[in-house]
Amino acid sequence: MRYQGDMVDLPTRLAPAALRPLRLPRWGALLLLAVLLAAVVVVPGRERLARVALQEAESRGQNTLRLAVAGLRGELARFERLPQLIAQQDRIAEAVRPDAPPPSLDLANRYLNEVNRLLGSSDIYVMRPDGRTVAASNFNQPAPFNGQNFGYRPYFTEALAGGEGRFFGLGTTSRKRGYYFGAPVRRGAEVLGVVALKIDVDALEDAWRAADYEIIVTDPQGIVFMASRLAWHFGTLAPLSAEAQAEVAATRRYDGNPLTPLPLTAAGAFQGHDLLRLTEAEGTREFMVLSEDMPREGWTVNVLMDTASARAQAWTSTLASLLAVGLATLGLAVYLQRRGRMHERLQMQREAQAQLEHRVAERTRELDELNARLRGEVAERRATEAELRRTHSRLIQSGKLAALGQMSAALSHEFNQPLGALRNFADNALAYIDRGRVPEARENIGRIQGLVERMSGISRTLRNFARKPNRHLGAVDVHAVWADACEVIDWRLRGTGVALEVDLGPPPLQVQGGPVRLQQVLVNLVTNAIDSLEGRADGRVLVAAAAEAGAELGGRVRITVTDNGPGVAPGLAERIFDPFFTTKGVGRGLGLGLSISYNIVKDFGGDLRVTDAPGGGACFEIVLPVPAVGCLPAEEGDEDMGAA
Ligand code: ADP
Repeated sequence: MRYQGDMVDLPTRLAPAALRPLRLPRWGALLLLAVLLAAVVVVPGRERLARVALQEAESRGQNTLRLAVAGLRGELARFERLPQLIAQQDRIAEAVRPDAPPPSLDLANRYLNEVNRLLGSSDIYVMRPDGRTVAASNFNQPAPFNGQNFGYRPYFTEALAGGEGRFFGLGTTSRKRGYYFGAPVRRGAEVLGVVALKIDVDALEDAWRAADYEIIVTDPQGIVFMASRLAWHFGTLAPLSAEAQAEVAATRRYDGNPLTPLPLTAAGAFQGHDLLRLTEAEGTREFMVLSEDMPREGWTVNVLMDTASARAQAWTSTLASLLAVGLATLGLAVYLQRRGRMHERLQMQREAQAQLEHRVAERTRELDELNARLRGEVAERRATEAELRRTHSRLIQSGKLAALGQMSAALSHEFNQPLGALRNFADNALAYIDRGRVPEARENIGRIQGLVERMSGISRTLRNFARKPNRHLGAVDVHAVWADACEVIDWRLRGTGVALEVDLGPPPLQVQGGPVRLQQVLVNLVTNAIDSLEGRADGRVLVAAAAEAGAELGGRVRITVTDNGPGVAPGLAERIFDPFFTTKGVGRGLGLGLSISYNIVKDFGGDLRVTDAPGGGACFEIVLPVPAVGCLPAEEGDEDMGAA
């Protein structure tokens, strides 16, 4: 329990450590790590991500390209055999005859018109070998082909030569772009004319409008014939050479339309695909060019994939990676911080534990030392006590011996004197008897009797001193006891000149005790008072007794013996009740009277003390209890001794 205070202190000692800020070098290292990670992982990663995004764009572009090419091929394939079919018709053969009558031309016109409507093609017309158109599906429209000469068109020349004519270009009459098929009209091996079928390409472009790519179809000279953007029609990817310009002019493919370069510039390549930069008023865009040739048609279909979304995706992914790296670094920092703090806390706890254990050990050692010291002191005290006891018993022993010696001296004095006197009186008595002087001899023998009587008295006193206290107490009347004591006292008073005054109040005055012993006490006290007045003419002794105020049941009675002698010197008052203490000379006092009296009064349950009398002298005061109700009177037989 005594170490509880230390334990309670622990958290408060730890508290400052918990608030300790994270060390700066660790943050620096983490920052460096984050930068390194960004440099090593994120930057190359960004390249990779960009490549992946561009690859995705490429694959989407390839799909778009495949669809566009397939669409074009499908559309052309739908019409490519139809001119041959039409050329086999008799009415067409009739119409191309040089002398064909107007009704057959009219019939051909109507037929072509009907077929053109059914097929959904742009125009169908028939030309004579000189290139002049004799019948056309648009015969009934504002600018019919009839009468016009298309002999310069390659589809005509190729068909006239017996082959299949194909051509694309701008219609010289309609001003509409189209794809032309040509087929010869035969009679046997002879070619009578040519049937041409034109399809409109506008409808094909409608499906190409999309947000992230553009589609352009270029001719062998790099001139844009078809495009998802109208503005790009007849633009060129590169400035045209003179040779190319001459070729275009010969076929009147674009019929004098200005061929201006498009605002596209080369911007490198990606995995074999050209990258083009388009500069417009709205801004700059970058495209990846995916191309497929259609050799039969003389076209190159180009899909221009906008790389912006791919690059944005790469940047987004890069930023996400950077964020991930940042978060990972932060997470690592938090983890390291937590781990560091935990480590510090554990360390502190270990230190506190060690400190505590150290203190416990220290205090235990101190306690052990204290215990050992205490055990040593206890042993020392015991030894001292034993020594004291030994000394005490030695003192008691020597006190006893001293008392015995004192008593022996007193007794030998008390007995030797009378014995010497006895011998003298006996010798004298014998001498008087020898001389026949009987009266003198008798007197001496009388003195011998007196001395014997005195020695008996001394012997009785000693026997009383050795008696055991009688426990049988009873009610004693002070008046009666005093009356008996007076017989002894009167004898003692004779010739002293001391005046005795007695005031015991009205009888009876009951006290608890034994009559003979109380009488002995009174005799002792009065005798001592008379002794103290020796040689004084005005000696006076007052014996008084009275019940204390309110002394009924359980009360007390006070008896005083007062003299006007010299009193008891202050230094002696404590010693006068000791056995064998006396100021009287050897042979006169044994020093046992007060000691015996004191013991008797104590036996009665009372008290005996000495005080100074008001006018000088000593006042001995006996205080005795009043006997209990029903207490029997004390009998003489209870006590086996007489007065001292
Ligand atoms: P003893 O009378 O044999 O000396 P006590 O025991 O009776 O023995 O008294 C002891 C001593 O007390 C006396 O020697 C005396 O010096 C002193 N003493 C007793 N009574 C008185 C008294 N009334 N006045 C003065 N001294 C007294």
